[in-house]
Order: sequence, then structure tokens, then C-alpha cells
Amino acid sequence: MGRLTAIVLGAAGGGGFPQWNCRCGVCRLAWEGDPRVARSTQASLAVTTDERNFILLNASPDLREQIASTPALQPRDGVRGSPIAAVVLTGAEIDQTAGLPVHAVNWHDRLTAPRLGEALRRFTGALVGGLGESRTLLHGPPEAVAAEVRDALVQTGGLGIMIGPGCVLPLATPDAHLAAVVAAVKTAA
Ligand SMILES: [Zn+2]
Repeated sequence: MGRLTAIVLGAAGGGGFPQWNCRCGVCRLAWEGDPRVARSTQASLAVTTDERNFILLNASPDLREQIASTPALQPRDGVRGSPIAAVVLTGAEIDQTAGLPVHAVNWHDRLTAPRLGEALRRFTGALVGGLGESRTLLHGPPEAVAAEVRDALVQTGGLGIMIGPGCVLPLATPDAHLAAVVAAVKTAA
């Protein structure tokens, strides 16, 4: 086994540095190109033991930009291929997963931050979520379920959102609550 080599693809927190929506003291220096601070994409590591095959530790929303600036991770053989052999996710935060080449992610927006509207600004694909499966969807009342649907549509403007539970649909979910979801979506459409 060869020596472990790690490439730091990015070292910033969620939103990168400078953060996309921030003009705090240090972000402002970065926006102005001050040489005392270094811009960075969001935290991610690529590790290898043979200098040819890499394992990514997390897929940050900046992954495409990180590959573009890291020759070792760019395709080199045949017509299609990638030196990235695998991606290990150390968590399910959007900042750890949004770079995956998928079109939609299921989002537990009713249990954890960020909310749908914020998540959509940080992920280019669609989100599946909006319904709190362990509380509102399961226990109702139907008006509260409908209110969650409307809130999800307001947060996202009705684009890039598939209304669904944050996780699975509990088997005990009353049909009336599901009917409330369908009715609320149809009313909004
Ligand atoms: Zn800042």
C-alpha cells in the first residue's frame, strides 16, 4: 500500500469563503480581493494511496469547481472516466452531499436547517420535502398538513420542489392527511 496523500479541495464552511451572502469584516476583505485573506471553496478532501485513484470525502456544492482546479481529479483515460473511484459521505448535511451528480435530494426540512428556500439557493437540483412526516403528516390536522404544503411552495416559489415527506411515509399516515396534501398542491397550481 502506498503512502496516503490528501488534497484539500476546499476548507471553508457552508457557503464558501467569502460566503455568498456575507459582508462581515473578513468576507468583505475577500470580496475586495485583499491579499491578507485567501478565498476558499467549501470543505472537501480527496485522498489517494496510488496517486491515480482518489476517494472523495464528501461532495461539496463546489465539487465541479474543485475538479476544474485540480488536474489530478480530471478525466485522463479513454473517452469517459474519472480518477474519482468513490465518494465517502461523513454526514448528510447539504454541504456534504449537494455536489453529488444527482437531480434531486430528499430534504428533512421540517426537522433540520436549512429551510427549503435556503437549501434551494445552495443546491442546483430539485428538493423533495416540505412535509414533517413524524409530526404534522402523521398527527394532522389536515389544515396543518395543507399549511405545510403552502409554506413549502411559498419558500421555493413552486420551482425545484417535489412535495414529499422529509424521510419515508409512515404506514400509519391517515388517508385524509394525504388527501389534504394533494388538494393543497392542486389548489396552489
Ligand atoms: Zn462573513
